[in-house]
Amino acid sequence: MKAGRLHAFGEAISVDEVPIPSEIGARNVLVRVKACGICHTDLSMINGALPPPRLPAILGHEPAGIIEAVGKEVKELKAGDRVFVNSVISCGHCRYCVAAQWNLCINPSNLGFDWGGGWAAYMEAPAFNCCLLPEEISFEEGAIMTDAVATTFHAMKRGEVKIGDSVAIFGIGGLGINAIQMAKAFGAAKVIAVDRKEAKRELALAVGADEAVDMDAPDVVKQVKRLSGGEGVDVAFEFVGIDSAIEKTIESVRRSGKAVIVGVYTGTFKVSAHPLIVKEIDIRGLWTVCQQDFPYVAELVRSGKIDLSRSITHRIPLDEVNRGLEILEQKIGNPLRIVIIP
Ligand SMILES: [Zn+2]
Ligand SMILES: [Zn+2]
Repeated sequence: MKAGRLHAFGEAISVDEVPIPSEIGARNVLVRVKACGICHTDLSMINGALPPPRLPAILGHEPAGIIEAVGKEVKELKAGDRVFVNSVISCGHCRYCVAAQWNLCINPSNLGFDWGGGWAAYMEAPAFNCCLLPEEISFEEGAIMTDAVATTFHAMKRGEVKIGDSVAIFGIGGLGINAIQMAKAFGAAKVIAVDRKEAKRELALAVGADEAVDMDAPDVVKQVKRLSGGEGVDVAFEFVGIDSAIEKTIESVRRSGKAVIVGVYTGTFKVSAHPLIVKEIDIRGLWTVCQQDFPYVAELVRSGKIDLSRSITHRIPLDEVNRGLEILEQKIGNPLRIVIIP
């Protein structure tokens, strides 16, 4: 089969001929991959910032496809089932796994990292990680549901968004675009989208944001406050991953409000202590997706509550995976989500 492999850090992905995984584990399945997303995490693996432990490595951690074969102990899935697959393989034994906080597992492995990934015709995955994908949903949408949609579901839970809330979404990219609709699905009465690009702000309004604000405007925080009744929003989400955006996100919440930081960022940011204290503001981190959210994500998309028709901007054959990575890295043509078709 064809597989997109990383041979050396900083080098292009090589599409190689490799054997189809054989001798599937007893609790695993073989998935015929129909679509697999690409995202910034892949760029970090390729440039060595997040190095896979063994090279060459087949990347791709956002797969959807059809079950081809199942291990001898797998009863809950069968050949022919359509699935989208969570790439985080939790140990099942640590205190976080026991508490169903699978994303916080202290000893995880990952598809497309230390397991073969979805930039390939076939991949082996634990049955536990596979969630049924309804017929009405395309494999391409299934692929982005694994990360770009499921993460926003988890984010709404972290932010405890509830009926009537006002919500601000900082950063209308591959995740922020879905977060707008997800906030509405969770009951938000007003969603304010914040992005520096006019095209992204227009898109935000088209998918259901009530207001859109320029992130580069010097009074962006003031505008968000004015649009949410003067004091700030109930919950603000940050999907950018830069200090200035994080700081504005925190400044935009009202008393007792919550700021949820989703964009991956390794630097530091400044918070004024006094407003944090007197307003009892919560600042919360968020790490990836939770397995138990997948069936809910599937139903939200199947029912049309979350419309992904505008979330995928590029579909790229596996042979051209490097072109997809270039589009992502150079932001050529305002990409939202890019999907590889093996
Ligand atoms: Zn990803
Ligand atoms: Zn664990």
